[in-house]
Amino acid sequence: MSDKLILVLNCGSSSLKGAVLDSASGEVLLSCLAEKLNLSDAFITFKINGEKEQVSLAAQPNHTGAVGALLAELQKHGLDSRIGAVGHRVVSGGEAYSESVLIDEQVLAAVEKCIPLAPLHNPANLLGIRAAQDIFKGLPNVAVFDTAFHQTMPAHAYTYAIPRRFYRDFSLRRYGFHGTSYRFVADEAARFLGKDKNSLRMVIAHLGNGASVAAIKNGESQDTSMGLTPLEGLVMGTRSGDLDPSVFSFLADNTGLGIQEITDLLNKQSGLLGISELSNDCRTIEEEAAKGHEGALLALEIFAYRLAKYVASMAVAAGGLDALVFTGGIGENSALVRAKVVGYCEFLGLKLNEEKNLAARFGNAGVITEDTGGAVAVVIPTNEELMIAQDTARLSGL
Ligand code: ADP
Repeated sequence: MSDKLILVLNCGSSSLKGAVLDSASGEVLLSCLAEKLNLSDAFITFKINGEKEQVSLAAQPNHTGAVGALLAELQKHGLDSRIGAVGHRVVSGGEAYSESVLIDEQVLAAVEKCIPLAPLHNPANLLGIRAAQDIFKGLPNVAVFDTAFHQTMPAHAYTYAIPRRFYRDFSLRRYGFHGTSYRFVADEAARFLGKDKNSLRMVIAHLGNGASVAAIKNGESQDTSMGLTPLEGLVMGTRSGDLDPSVFSFLADNTGLGIQEITDLLNKQSGLLGISELSNDCRTIEEEAAKGHEGALLALEIFAYRLAKYVASMAVAAGGLDALVFTGGIGENSALVRAKVVGYCEFLGLKLNEEKNLAARFGNAGVITEDTGGAVAVVIPTNEELMIAQDTARLSGL
């Protein structure tokens, strides 16, 4: 095992998140967040040894400038020579990739070809890869796709019931996201429960700002709630999740909004925010619900009810249920949401243990249901960066 460190990059159109990890121990030596990229007041914030430091990117306010500032910071702390490879989160690998891959020209071309499937994310991911190739010259780069883990979904799970020519002509189908998190959490859950993952039927709920559920059988994804884009499925912080597709034409006809405006409304102004008319943040919603805020109470109930309905439907895809696994910021911390969901799912054999449910928060894993000999619900913290770092180290031969 080498002592090389892995740089993990997660690029958005105007942001770049980075972390330097020891892929063997999981220790994070440095993390950073560049914001307002492509604006003149872009800046990057570093966190190292418990200290925060902010650096202006005004001289080169783009992804390359951010990666350059990151290299300078690593040099300052004598870490630059210890970086052995760079791992990139890439949102869509379409049908081309079912695993992480060492990046070469062919991979870059494939990521570019998938831009229509992830028009906001893949171009930013490509910028990050090119910046890393420019600045960290000669280091291997690895792409870890959000969609890859779900490539095991059968056709009856990924096909939309619309004329099949659209799948043939445009690759229009369900892809799913959060795959890196599901892969990590599925392994961790099996380990935590002391079970062989190949004989576990799991439903995993990844509940962050974006939220989805997936059915895992024999360690493989059978179905997931997000589809062509992350808009499908659960109620999320600002996304509506599933709707009657006719809502689109109804809004267009009755409000005069255009396609892009309605898409934005469903992605950015809906979900917990739209229902509560208060916030997209689950913590705020819970605080206000406790004070009796009607919108917050309704938002929480809809969030939990829709999630519970999806858990039950994913048990169909998994062929039964041995473990319901909660992860992501809400899944790992909100005892209230978990209690509601487990309550709705009692008919699946789950019975909440309130004490255990309160104990499994703030980074603590734990079973949160009574031992009935049947299905359990369990909290497992996710770590997508570590998964990316581990794939990157393996594929780079470190
Ligand atoms: P992202 O998808 O951006 O990675 P996270 O996984 O960090 O998001 O999850 C963010 C969500 O987790 C927010 O809705 C936040 O309110 C929620 N959350 C974090 N801590 C708590 C908590 N203690 N109680 C309830 N919700 C929480």
